[in-house]
Amino acid sequence: MPIATRAFAATAADKPLTPYSFERRDPGPDDVLIDIKYCGVCHSDLHAARGETGGTAFPLVPGHEIAGVVKAVGSNVTRFKEGDRVGVGCMVDSCRECASCQEGVEQYCIPGFTGTYGGKDKKGGTSEAITQGGYSDHITVDQHFVLSIPDSLALDVAAPLLCAGITTYSPLKEWGVGPGSKVAVIGLGGLGHMAVKLAAAMGAEVTVLSTSDRKKADAERMGAKHFLINSDKDAMKAAAEKFDLIINTVSATHEIASHIQLLARDGTMIMLGLTTEGLPVFALPLLWRRRRIAGSLIGGIKETQEMLDFCAEHGIACDIETIAPDQINDAYERMLKSDVRYRFVIDMEKLAA
Ligand code: NAP
Ligand code: ZN
Ligand code: ZN
Repeated sequence: MPIATRAFAATAADKPLTPYSFERRDPGPDDVLIDIKYCGVCHSDLHAARGETGGTAFPLVPGHEIAGVVKAVGSNVTRFKEGDRVGVGCMVDSCRECASCQEGVEQYCIPGFTGTYGGKDKKGGTSEAITQGGYSDHITVDQHFVLSIPDSLALDVAAPLLCAGITTYSPLKEWGVGPGSKVAVIGLGGLGHMAVKLAAAMGAEVTVLSTSDRKKADAERMGAKHFLINSDKDAMKAAAEKFDLIINTVSATHEIASHIQLLARDGTMIMLGLTTEGLPVFALPLLWRRRRIAGSLIGGIKETQEMLDFCAEHGIACDIETIAPDQINDAYERMLKSDVRYRFVIDMEKLAA
């Protein structure tokens, strides 16, 4: 019997999200049925709901920062049982066979992973042809894509770790951040605030680059040693060649040439934001100091579990503002004004019956 599911969905790129009902598949042998308690609000949800990244199929239920409790498991499921505290991030399936899947970096699955929302639903058994995300009260997910949330992390503050946490943890690890590293984070939003906390916990000296001084005290509380306003030309000049790694989390088209000057020799800027317009980059500042620009996409399942365990061990969680589902449209507007401290999290128990 398919499972009746209540949700909030975008029905068109120019319409607000509204209540929506559909059916999830009944758990198959490898599936975990999750009672969703909280879902974080990622800027990618907004990009998708407004059709900014292209190809959005409507109606769309966004949400890929899911935290909840196991309600039922299929007969092959050994790692989870009813009542376990679990999470789901941006992926619900992948081919499992390509070199990336075999190496545990399913996010780079060659034929493409199945996104938690807006992906072609290969498993079927729902009333939708595409996957629907976590702004809903239940989800059925293959056990391989389900994470364990450590007991010491409350579900509400853990939810955004499933995207904002792993998306920043993965490049920090990949680029070998540790004691002595000098890391800058551009943009103190959902991803940015996690980048600060994680890099500081790894032992790096962290600097935040922000558009105003409104978030300075928060940045310092999160572990940043230095804070710069990126339109302050003198401060930017003084910070030239200072950083080994820059985590760029800006969610809109922006000027990056002046930020590249902040990289030390052999330094790398990691692009995380889904900006769809080109960002002009000049060759000379790159070749002059063997600087690099790289991209990074979320993280694999194994690494996501490692990140959750790291957060539990270091007492790291997200700074959140909890909202009811019907406040989602206001939350999107505030996110566009960078008025987010530092992740909106939807309390799914407040979905109207
Ligand atoms: P967010 O919470 O809205 O934070 C973005 C921050 O960027 C803002 O708080 C603001 O920081 C800064 N910013 C926004 N507009 C700006 C502009 N025009 N110029 C300069 N700075 C600006 O967003 P998020 O959820 O962290 O996501 C950030 C981006 O990463 C989005 O594009 C999202 O889709 C993408 N994303 C990528 C991945 C991946 O796997 N690569 C995963 C998740 C999200 P200040 O207030 O400090 O200036
Ligand atoms: Zn996300
Ligand atoms: Zn694959």
